[in-house]
Formats: sequence, structure tokens, C-alpha cells
Amino acid sequence: MKIQNLSDKQLLQDTKKLAGDEREISLQVLKHLREIERRRLFSDLGYGSLFDYAVNELGYSEPSANRRIQASRLLNEIPAIEKKIVEGSLTLTNLAMAGNLFKNERINNPELKLEILKKIEDQSSRECSKTLLGFQSAPLIPKETQKQTTVTITTMKFNFTNETVTLLDEIKNLVAHSRLSNDELFKRIFKNTLEDLKTKKYKLNAKFTTAPASPCETRYVSAIVKKEVYLRDKGRCTKCQSTYKIEYDHIKPFAIGGDSSAKNLRLLCFSCNQRRLK
Ligand SMILES: [Zn+2]
Repeated sequence: MKIQNLSDKQLLQDTKKLAGDEREISLQVLKHLREIERRRLFSDLGYGSLFDYAVNELGYSEPSANRRIQASRLLNEIPAIEKKIVEGSLTLTNLAMAGNLFKNERINNPELKLEILKKIEDQSSRECSKTLLGFQSAPLIPKETQKQTTVTITTMKFNFTNETVTLLDEIKNLVAHSRLSNDELFKRIFKNTLEDLKTKKYKLNAKFTTAPASPCETRYVSAIVKKEVYLRDKGRCTKCQSTYKIEYDHIKPFAIGGDSSAKNLRLLCFSCNQRRLK
């Protein structure tokens, strides 16, 4: 019968059955691989390792071969996980990750192994990798880097805490419908933040609400004057055009009678302002 002609109910039933069969077959593959390894049959065929055999003779991709071999060794060592594999609560990916951890951390105690495997049951691969990190000794935190990769692209590496990743995930979920690339997403976030910071710092949303104090009487620059000066000087240092650490500067210092009107104010960057004060 053609798949297109199956009833909805039959289609769902068949798929569930097939997925079960698939896991059963995977399990058989693992057992066979283990037995081939035990008999070292791969060397009869001229392969240096079970991995070479799985890639070149069986046609698995390197990561798939690695997952299966790791899982077959664990299954041999801890037969109790067989049921979990068939049920699908322990996936090959998670088993392979656990296998790597056991190898790298020299975890040999079968009870500890079983305890760790219990923790990763029914976990997504991302959750699993997080769980396993808890058993890793002094994890290396990669260096943060920034490198111009092509004429128009810079590749940056950052280390984020879980809290930041959660925030990023939440933003990604909210805009998921627009399928933004990481570059487009960050551009949007950066533009919004920049706008927000500028608005707050230079009072770009200032409106006349109450009458401002006379600019002659106070050193304090009113919001509306800040906005006027910022827009007039286009948000840049009036001496060097830099946008780094911009400050409002009294052209004629307040101490010697300069007022706080837009006419007597200008934008200066931190360096130009420091130089001026010398
Ligand atoms: Zn400057």
C-alpha cells in the first residue's frame, strides 16, 4: 500500500513501529560492532581499527561511526543500558558524549558510569552536554578572540554565562518567525541598544515640560539643551570627530562666568577634553 493512501491512524501507528524497529536494529548494529571488535575481524580486512572499518567498509560518516563505537563499548561494559537504548531514552549521541567523558576523565568505576548515564536519560543532546560538564574536572574556558576573516567579515568568539545565553535564546524565540542570521539579529540588538543609550545619555527625548532654569545661574545643563547640543554637533567630538566617551564641555568655563546655554556648550571626547584642561 502506498504511504499516501494510509489512513492517518495507520500512518501514525506504522511510524511509531518503524521508529521502534529502527532502535532495535541500531542496538543489533552495536552488538555486532562489539563482536567484530572482540574478534578483531577488521584487521583481516586490512583496516587498522574498528573505526576505519566502520567508515570505509560500512559507509558511516566519521561522527556516526564514532557514536556507534562509543555506544557499543558502553553497552558491552554496562549491559543494563540495552533497554534504555531500545526505548530511546539513551540516544547514540548522548552515549557517545558520555563515552568521551569517561575516557577523558578516566572514569572507570562502573557504578559511577551508570549513575551518570541515568542522569542523561531522556535529555536532549544540549541538556546532556550540560549535565556531563558537571562531571568534568576544571573545564578550560576558551580565549575570547576577534579576527578579521574576510574584507567584510570579522569572526568573534565570546564566552557567555548561562544567564546571557538564556536571554539570547529568549530574544531568538521572539523573532524566530523572521529567520534572522546571527549577524542580522545582533545588528538589530546593537542598533536598539545604541539608540537607547544615546537617548538616555544625551536626553534625545527631552521636551519642554517646566520652564528650564536660566542657563546663567547654573552649571547644570538642562535636558533640552543637551539634546540641542548633541544634535547640532552630530554626536561627535567637535575637535577630532571621535565618538568615544563624549562629554558636554563649557566653552567658556562656568567658573569664570560661562553659562549653560547651547551657545556656550559643545561636545568633546574624553581625550580632547583632558588635553584642553592641561
Ligand atoms: Zn576629540
